[in-house]
Formats: sequence, structure tokens, C-alpha cells
Amino acid sequence: MPEFDDSKKLEIKNRIASWDRTETKTAATLQDLHLTREEVERLMWDTRGRWVFSGDNEYEERRKLFYNNFKYILPLAIAVCHTEYDVQCFLKCIYRLHQRGFKVPFAPRSGGHSTAGYSTVQSGIMLDLRELNDQMFDPKQNVISVGPGVQFRDFYRVLDSHGRFTPGAIFPDLCVGGYMQGGGYGFGSRMFGMNCDNVINLTVVLANGRLVQANEKVNADLLWAIRGGTGNNFGIVTQVAYKTYEAPQFGAIAMRWKIDTNDKAQQGAEVMDLMQRKFMGSNRDRTFGYMVLFHFLEEDDEKVPYLLMRTVYIGKYGTGSDLLKDLIAIDGCEVEWEANSSYPELNSRLMGYDKYDNKTQFTNTNIEDIPSQEKQSRFFKKKLGIDGWKAVIDHFRSAKSEFNCLPKLHTEPGGAAIDDTKRGGNAYIHRNDDFNAFLNVYWKDNSEKEKALCFLNKWLEIVGDSPYQEAYQNYPKPYVDNWSQRYWAEYYPCLCAVKQKYDPHNLFRFQQSVGSDGGPCPKDSMERAKGLLPDLAEHFDKPIEYLCP
Ligand SMILES: Cc1cc2nc3c(=O)[nH]c(=O)nc-3n(C[C@H](O)[C@H](O)[C@H](O)COP(=O)(O)OP(=O)(O)OC[C@H]3O[C@@H](n4cnc5c(N)ncnc54)[C@H](O)[C@@H]3O)c2cc1C
Repeated sequence: MPEFDDSKKLEIKNRIASWDRTETKTAATLQDLHLTREEVERLMWDTRGRWVFSGDNEYEERRKLFYNNFKYILPLAIAVCHTEYDVQCFLKCIYRLHQRGFKVPFAPRSGGHSTAGYSTVQSGIMLDLRELNDQMFDPKQNVISVGPGVQFRDFYRVLDSHGRFTPGAIFPDLCVGGYMQGGGYGFGSRMFGMNCDNVINLTVVLANGRLVQANEKVNADLLWAIRGGTGNNFGIVTQVAYKTYEAPQFGAIAMRWKIDTNDKAQQGAEVMDLMQRKFMGSNRDRTFGYMVLFHFLEEDDEKVPYLLMRTVYIGKYGTGSDLLKDLIAIDGCEVEWEANSSYPELNSRLMGYDKYDNKTQFTNTNIEDIPSQEKQSRFFKKKLGIDGWKAVIDHFRSAKSEFNCLPKLHTEPGGAAIDDTKRGGNAYIHRNDDFNAFLNVYWKDNSEKEKALCFLNKWLEIVGDSPYQEAYQNYPKPYVDNWSQRYWAEYYPCLCAVKQKYDPHNLFRFQQSVGSDGGPCPKDSMERAKGLLPDLAEHFDKPIEYLCP
């Protein structure tokens, strides 16, 4: 049991007093949770964590996710965890409820950026992990160990202060907890691999509340699955250890092409075609990483469509323009700026995130500013060709006359270090692709929603989507058809095998969890997993190794 300072005691007393003042409401909440007043109070005295019920002062802030889409979701209770021990105690409580037949739904939440809203749950329990945000750098091993609630702005800052680098997220608000488990793409991915490829050890609380570690030697099958298998499937990750690299000198270059007329759109298609042929999957040069954004920019009160190429590279000033000279040579290219600086500064400047740089934990971008959003992502190996890219650009441009909130199309190129890990090397299986693209559509007025979704589907038609074309599991949406195949393809049975071993009672479940109704597990998952992952076969047969016997 933890030793408390007076402020924690006062906090608990205040919370209990506020529940006394709203006795009838509290009683109803407890009834829905199937917990007694004694049980919930005991948990608060036994841990550093606390319960937050609807009506408590923190409830509104804590229940919100990044996207407005999910603002109507009201969890019954939020379990705020400060330590690994808190996670164990709250999860044990939920586990016991399920054993007693009360299947109260729950969801862990780190950054709350799940594009499908999977980090909250209507009438269930949200486990808020944002306070698990310690970072420890070990200079002897050059390893950084971080909590799931660490935001990438802080992750980069700490690494930078030690002269080290590990590839992470582009959006600084994102947290390690959800991002890493879906793979984790960023400007550093072509240079140093996906974020999950750099994980060397995980600490995880399993469904029964017991602690395990997962690394190459111990519970290696769990390590395989969590790196790409997506959150809330196997356990709650409470610590992630990453290898780090000596931070090189980073530079960045921002380039753009206007695509507002038919001729310029044709030029844009030539740019994208050259980029796909020379600078994506087949390009082994691991000194640069980039994204191409199709955005509308405000110019003289007009929304003008652009291709924005945002590149981070290793090298001194000028290296970027030299590296990309073939693209710069295409008519219409405007080099906006090029600079050397620290990685986090370049990342934020490239994406216009500078304004978020000094935010601290919990001051997520104000969700009221962010319209409702839907998206689809697809990985591409096939060359679209100039005509294919022209069709994509024309579709994008057509939005201008159709929508008040304009769409955004992003391409995340593959190749280089992303392919150092072979397909099936971990549960992020999308290797040897040219790029992942995702189209975001938005609306503020609900009357635009249907039109926005049609626009999204039309894009899939234009790019020739097929039922087995893969999609990025870090951009989940409940309407992604054939999702288990699109996210994990032939390796889905491997996830099923790990799930059956580490979460045999299927405590961790949501609409797209491994083995859920929409993604049933094959009966022979274990045999198939051993066949697909022969190096892990002996681990599948071993019992779970717990940290404390
Ligand atoms: C604005 C924006 C920008 C983005 N940019 C990128 C990008 O550049 N590259 C990229 O790869 N992705 C990007 N994403 C997608 C992002 O990686 C995912 O949404 C990711 O899940 C976010 O992590 P989180 O901790 O904020 O997620 P959360 O919403 O907190 O969690 C996501 C899922 O993981 C579960 N979970 C969370 N923490 C834990 C834990 N500790 N243990 C077990 N399960 C857990 C949740 O229950 C949920 O199912 C972006 C998303 C947004 C909204």
C-alpha cells in the first residue's frame, strides 16, 4: 500500500464528500458498475489512483478524446492511474467483476487519439494512463524507458538533451501507449524504422492484474504481437523501452506545387509519379524521410490546392535540395525553406505544429476547433502512373466547390529502414510498400456528413481498392471492411494465438479487437502461427513468465 502525503488524503476526502452530496447519482453509478461504495473507496486508499464519476470536477476534461466525433461518449467512471501498481489494482477490480459475470466494458486511454474512439467506452470504465509519463534514459545502454502517457514532444526533448534519437510521431500530442502499438510512422521511419521496430522491452499488466515483461528472451510472442497488434488487445502496457541512436545533424526542406489549374494538376501528377518511382519503396537511401500532403491553403481569401512535400534529412544545409533536385527541377516547384535544427523543431515547423510546442500534458489541442472527421487509409505497391495520380489530384481538387470543410490527403512513403524488418518480423506487417495514403474528410454541419463519406468512397474507387489491399491499423475506423486482413493479412492467426495465450478470457475486447465478431480467429491459429513464425514456435509453447511468481 502506498504512503500518502496529505494532499492525496485530502483529495480522497473531498471526492468522497462530493459523492455524499450527490448520493442518489453516486448510488446509481455504483449500481451500474456493480461495485460497492466500500470497494471504490478502498481502491482509492490502496493506490495512488482515483475514480472520477460523471459530475466530478475532472470528468469532462478526462473523458474527452481528440476528435469531436466521440464527444457524446460518456464512460460511467474514469480510473485515473498514476503508477503501474494502480493499473494492476484497477484491472484486477475489473477482472473480478467479469469473473462475477458483470461484463463492464473498459478501455485504456493514453493520448486519446484513436481515430475510431477506441480509447473510451459508453457506460464503461476508461483507464486514464496519461499520468504514467515518466521517462528514464540509461546512458550506459543508450536505452530510453517511457510510460504510455508520454507525449512525443517530451519524448523528443528528453532524447535530444542526451544527443540521442528514436523515430516517433509527427503530431506532438500523440502518446507512446497507442501510437507504438499500431506501428508508429514518422519522418524518422525511413531513416530508423517504425517506432515499434525500435522497442526492446515492454512491461505489461495482463488481464488478471499480473505483471509481465516482453522482450526477445521472455514472452517473445507477446513482444511480437504488441508491436503492431494495436492497443487494448493483450494487456495494458505500462512501460516501453526503446533503443536509441546517436542524433545526427538533421535538416529539413519544405517544397510545394500549386495544383489549381488543369495544367498544374498535370504537373502535380508528374511530380507524384516520379516520386513514387524514385523516392518511395524502391529507394534504399535512408538519409531522408518525408510526407506529401494534399492541402488547400488560404490565399487572398481563396482556398488553393497544393502538393506540399515535407522532408527531414540527415546532413548539412543544402543536402536536401541536392537529394531532391530531380523533383525540384519539375516546373512549378517552389522551395519554401530549408534549414538545419533539432529534430523536434524541424518536425513541428514542417507541419505547422510550432504553436503546440509549448503545450503541456493534458492541454490537448482544443477539440472544439476540430471538426468531425472520417478517414480511410490504404497501402500501395502498384504504380499509379501519371494518369492515376492525375485522377487522384482531380478528385481532390473537386472538393473545393463541394465542401465548407475541405479534405486532406496525406501520403506516407515507405522503403529504406522500414523494410529492414521483414514482413512478419513483428505485427506491423506492411513492408515493401511504396506508400500508405489516407484521406481525411471533415464536416462541422451534419448535413455535409453523407457527402463527405461519398467523397471518401469515391477516392477508394479511383485508386482501385480491392478487398485485400492493406490498411494502416493506427488509423482504424469501424467501417473498414475485412479489417483483420487489411491490418494484419496472413499474420492474423499469429495475433489470435497470442491473444488466446495472454488473454484467454477475452477481457480486452472492442469492436475490432483480435478475435471479436468481425474478425473471428481460425480454430488452428496456434498451428498456423507456429508455421508462419518458426523462430517464435518454442515461445508459443512456453507458459507465461510472470515478473513475480
Ligand atoms: C492528429 C493525429 C495525428 C496522427 N499522426 C500519426 C502519425 O504521424 N503517425 C502514426 O503512425 N499515427 C498517427 N496518428 C494515429 C495515432 O498513432 C493513433 O491514433 C494512436 O493510437 C494514438 O496513440 P494515443 O496514445 O493517442 O491513442 P489512444 O487513443 O489513447 O489509444 C489507442 C488505442 O490503444 C489503446 N491503448 C492506449 N494506451 C494503451 C496502453 N498503455 N496499453 C494498452 N492499450 C492501450 C486504447 O484503448 C485504444 O484502443 C495520428 C492520429 C491523430 C488523431
